Amino acid sequence: MPNNRPYTKKKPSFSGKKPVNKHHSQPPKKEPEIIDKTVYYRPTMTVLELSEALHKPVSEVIKKMMFMKIMASQTQTVDREIAELVSMDFGFELKDEVQTDLSKFEEIDIVDDPSTLVERPAVVTIMGHVDHGKTTLLDNIRHSRIVDGEAGGITQHIGAYQVIRHGRPITFIDTPGHAAFTEMRARGARITDIVVLVVAADDGVMPQTKEAIDHARASKTAIIVAVNKMDKIGAQPDRVKQELADLGLMPDDWGGEIPFCYISALKGTGIDNLLDTIQLVAELLELKANPKRNAVGSVVEAKLDKGRGPVATVLISNGSLRVGDVFVAGNTFGKVRAMNDDLGKAIDVALPGAAVEVIGLDATPFAGDPFMVFDDAKVVKDIAQKRSDRSFKEEHSAKKMITLEEFFERAESGVKELRLIIKADTQGSIEAFRGSIEKIVVEGTSIDIVRTGVGAITETDVSLAEASDAIIIAFDVLAPANVRDTADSKGVEIRDYRVIYEALDDIEAAMKGMLDPVFEKQTIGSATVRETFSISKIGTIAGCMVTSGTIKKDSLVKLFRNGKVIFEGKISSLKRFKDDVKEVRQGYDCGIMIENYNDLKVDDVIEASLMKEVV
Ligand code: GDP
Repeated sequence: MPNNRPYTKKKPSFSGKKPVNKHHSQPPKKEPEIIDKTVYYRPTMTVLELSEALHKPVSEVIKKMMFMKIMASQTQTVDREIAELVSMDFGFELKDEVQTDLSKFEEIDIVDDPSTLVERPAVVTIMGHVDHGKTTLLDNIRHSRIVDGEAGGITQHIGAYQVIRHGRPITFIDTPGHAAFTEMRARGARITDIVVLVVAADDGVMPQTKEAIDHARASKTAIIVAVNKMDKIGAQPDRVKQELADLGLMPDDWGGEIPFCYISALKGTGIDNLLDTIQLVAELLELKANPKRNAVGSVVEAKLDKGRGPVATVLISNGSLRVGDVFVAGNTFGKVRAMNDDLGKAIDVALPGAAVEVIGLDATPFAGDPFMVFDDAKVVKDIAQKRSDRSFKEEHSAKKMITLEEFFERAESGVKELRLIIKADTQGSIEAFRGSIEKIVVEGTSIDIVRTGVGAITETDVSLAEASDAIIIAFDVLAPANVRDTADSKGVEIRDYRVIYEALDDIEAAMKGMLDPVFEKQTIGSATVRETFSISKIGTIAGCMVTSGTIKKDSLVKLFRNGKVIFEGKISSLKRFKDDVKEVRQGYDCGIMIENYNDLKVDDVIEASLMKEVV
């Protein structure tokens, strides 16, 4: 017969208050030890909450309070003094609960009792160069690996999906490419446990392969290499191995630590082995979570759906998410009205490591936003509001990333690793710089070269710098105006150098806390040469269009051709039509002459800068 007694919420019997077995006259069992005899008090604590903290029935606590001549119901709040007396009576110590700023919930360190932890699925992102087969691989895994017999078996695109191998799930983030990964990292989300780096066996290491390696390394994510397109006649897996080994990814079958799998995403060969390898690496990573706690995680994807309103795919990193839970996601909040898994099936509970589509948000969050469930429906709206106010303020006062000047200061408060992204015109300069920088030893600090690359600074460099809190060191390379703007808006520092030793001096000085720049060169604008006029005795006048900022008569200039600096000097004449002018703004034509340089060509870029005092 079902138990129809009204349900009273009871904690597991820590107190051992089971009725003594009447049929045996054994002495009552000794109370098991309660490990933490501390009550964390907060001003809103009710009698019932106090009794729960004391692991006592609420009636006992009420009785104890009656002895103190205090009549209270279980929903009434308790004064601190009374709570302390009651706690002492039960042999507990009372401490004030440390008020954490819940609006910064992603910074809260979640510590679970090890006995509550169970294995959770690995979360995998597939990265690699364009056309190397990322989408094909994701499709192949998705279509062929859906749990056998699953009704329909067609996955919905929700931004992530799970496959089961040997009874254990693996979660794949379903957005190939780096933009999503970088964007999420920039928002502080550490979603991925393992990066599967897809490299086409007939093409080898390409620029985005290197980028993917940089990202994975900077975020300290485990890497598995999948050498793809093994079915192709031109496949050269050994070449790929050599190229990756040269980049520091030593294949396991060459005695290294990086697992290499050989696959054909198109034909579906080698995929089982790849999945086994993922599970092997996942085992080594000992990925654990506590399914009994409230869910925390990150938003993988979000959209505004016509019929359903804002919908977000949430990847749960710890805890379980249930229908009815109230939560904050980024600057939005909500209550889980319904959840769907990657098969479009409605579910009531989602476990750690799973990705679920959540319906019931008040607005659309962003990919990478942190997600957390709270006990109290009243707080989530406030938290979301507070976060949104803060984001507004931050957006309006450009985010401050680390600069070289600040490094020493920050080093004193814990930031000990100076992270650099190095861009130069030749591989030789990079190697020379890398070689010299390794010789800089300043106790208590270290340098991490997050990435190096030949050629102009790109948006990707800036987002990597943002995500990794790195500084970009540029030797004689162009940063296009839009890239500089992005860097400015994100607060990423780009430092331009012509010679290696100057950069080394600055870095060493910064590490020793001696960097004391009074003046710094600041780019103020750039112009593109549209036509040139050579006038004998005078020289070459470049007819230019100012493409960004302002060009001033007293500017210092750098002349770029095909992304490389070819001359540095000063402007000798700046004209609008026939008139000498002090400055020309973006969108206007002008005539520029450069002192001691006449070999100007159409499409050259003139970058103007001024020495400005740095405060
Ligand atoms: P992505 O840009 O990395 O997502 O690459 P895609 O998955 O779109 O693949 C690019 C092209 O390579 C497509 O035409 C695929 O059919 C092809 N491709 C992908 N994997 C393989 C493979 O294992 N073998 C062969 N022969 N072609 C492949």
